Amino acid sequence: MTRIRHFISGAQASGESRRTGPIYNPATGAQTGEVDYASAADVDSAVAGAAAAFTQWRAVPLSRRSGILFAMRDLVRGHSRQLAEAITAENGKVLSDAEGEVLRGLENLEFACGIPSQLKGEYSGQVSRGVDVHSVRYPLGVVAGITPFNFPAMVPLWMAPNAIACGNSFVLKPSEKTPTAAMLLAELWRAAGLPDGVFTVVHGDREAVDRLLTHPKVAAVSFVGSTPVARHIYATAAGHGKRVQALGGAKNHMVVLPDADVDGAADAAVSAGYGAAGERCMAISVVAAVGSVAGPLVDAIVARLDKIRVGSGTDPDAQMGPLVTREHRDRVAGYLDTAAAEGATVVADGRALATAESGFFLGPCLVDHVQPEMTVYRDEVFGPVLCVVRVPTYDAAVQLVNDNPYGNGVAVFTRDGGAARRFQDQVEVGMVGINVPIPVPVACYSFGGWKASLFGDLHMYGPDGIRFYTRAKVVTTRWPDPSTSAVDLGFPQTR
Ligand code: NAD
Repeated sequence: MTRIRHFISGAQASGESRRTGPIYNPATGAQTGEVDYASAADVDSAVAGAAAAFTQWRAVPLSRRSGILFAMRDLVRGHSRQLAEAITAENGKVLSDAEGEVLRGLENLEFACGIPSQLKGEYSGQVSRGVDVHSVRYPLGVVAGITPFNFPAMVPLWMAPNAIACGNSFVLKPSEKTPTAAMLLAELWRAAGLPDGVFTVVHGDREAVDRLLTHPKVAAVSFVGSTPVARHIYATAAGHGKRVQALGGAKNHMVVLPDADVDGAADAAVSAGYGAAGERCMAISVVAAVGSVAGPLVDAIVARLDKIRVGSGTDPDAQMGPLVTREHRDRVAGYLDTAAAEGATVVADGRALATAESGFFLGPCLVDHVQPEMTVYRDEVFGPVLCVVRVPTYDAAVQLVNDNPYGNGVAVFTRDGGAARRFQDQVEVGMVGINVPIPVPVACYSFGGWKASLFGDLHMYGPDGIRFYTRAKVVTTRWPDPSTSAVDLGFPQTR
């Protein structure tokens, strides 16, 4: 069994805590390793190392930082298969999907390579006679990232490249379920030439997180995970005077208008609903079928379900892997019984694949005639359960989306540009796809939901990431005209 330790001040470290947690291979159900859980004292030594590194790193020229980021970009690309294999082994998603995750993370490294441009300040000359004003952005110090199990490489790469490029030291607390990708990233940062202590990994659970949230030397916290934990992170870290961005859960709708291409919409619903076994914060979990499109759309989705190959993530033919843990698989499967009891129609029940011995599998599930008051609609299910809510009109679809407490992603499928434009305007969601089911912004934009999907002001990565990881100083300068100088500088004197 592998033992995963922390990565502090450029080296693997055991820490003083004796607490550990199990790591499973979700495809086999077998325990494959254990990960150290940091105590508050372990977090203190990690933060002390990061704080010491910060004093040097903040002074490193931008061109040198950029050089390290370019090197890291090449190393991550060169090790994308190794990273993907580590992700599949602990998270369960299929290898091609894990490789896709690494590529999406890579985009953020590429964005951060341009840090000399991103940190350009502003300048206003002659705001008053002889007075100029300019702004400069400075790093914050030690910043922490707390990340979920579902994107073990990509979400840390949403945070660390910008944080580090801006001159901060970054302390990562990855999900205890999927800790290995973070350790590989730590090794790659070191190989890229990043000074020791600028990228640190502490593993663990609430004890480690709560120490990061209250530690006086941690200046900012970036979090991605479920909404209840996001609320706790936001309230606690903000209460301790930190800058916080806490991204929470989701319930993403795909609104299909009656004029949509039914086959295209069904393909999109299937890939966005069941990809990564529905364990994506941008997965489609509700299809809002407007008017007459509902019947043909449900038929088209059903026709595609049998073709989805469910299997181990390492099987090149598998399209959908297992869920992350047995408990999570059982919780997700339980929604099918609740949905049926509350009056919905379970069209496809993936539990035939959910055998106790052979990994944490659940096949694609489809629930039709779902109503907004049903549990399967209200909860974030976070599994391969696609719900269909039949709505009579476009307005009812928008109302459904806007009444939902989450506001992460949404998609509309239509051939009508005017309808799409109105939808974009009226829907209260942070990321909107028009005939795009999973509208994750590219790295030169920022990622963030609205309402219960994000607590804080700034979104993740892209331009908001640079703002989040820096604070501005505005300098107002007055120089008297040299012709009035007491010393003869060679100008015609006017004194
Ligand atoms: P989670 O909230 O259980 O855990 C996230 C992180 O918080 C982990 O590092 C975990 O160790 C830590 N944590 C868990 N409970 C804690 C507690 N009580 N106190 C302090 N820290 C705690 O989330 P998860 O199950 O790992 O990931 C799935 C969730 O993440 C889903 O809700 C999904 O929607 C969400 N997610 C959101 C986004 C987004 O961009 N909005 C992206 C990915 C995942």
